[in-house]
Amino acid sequence: MRFTFSPKEMDLLDIRGVNFIHPINVRIYHIKKSIANFEILLNVSTRIQLDCSDCLESFEQDMVLDLKIDDEELEFMDDYECNENPNLINILPFIREELIISSPDYAICSDDCKGLCPKCGKNLNYGRCDCVIEENFE
Ligand SMILES: [Zn+2]
Ligand SMILES: [Zn+2]
Repeated sequence: MRFTFSPKEMDLLDIRGVNFIHPINVRIYHIKKSIANFEILLNVSTRIQLDCSDCLESFEQDMVLDLKIDDEELEFMDDYECNENPNLINILPFIREELIISSPDYAICSDDCKGLCPKCGKNLNYGRCDCVIEENFE
């Protein structure tokens, strides 16, 4: 089963530090449900937009989560609205929370990001500036 949700549908528009601007793809590939046991395995993927902590430019990266919802999570989801159909639990709040938890606090656009010049603030990824940085390490 595949579903696609917009960031708006999932209430992901106003999350600090990360922009959800692409559709969120949810693929449920395993459901096991009996009275004693409950398990859903799913894969969530999207692209997120982040601001580089060094050069402050925004960039995008993939986000892929493999999630499992089982009895324990189900208890935790008690507060969440369940569908009239008891087989259909509303798992969106759970997915939403996992997406937020998994968003990095600190992000760098690339391994060789050169950051900003400490003097003039120019983004050094676009070329050098004319500042003379005194190397005063002693
Ligand atoms: Zn950067
Ligand atoms: Zn400079």
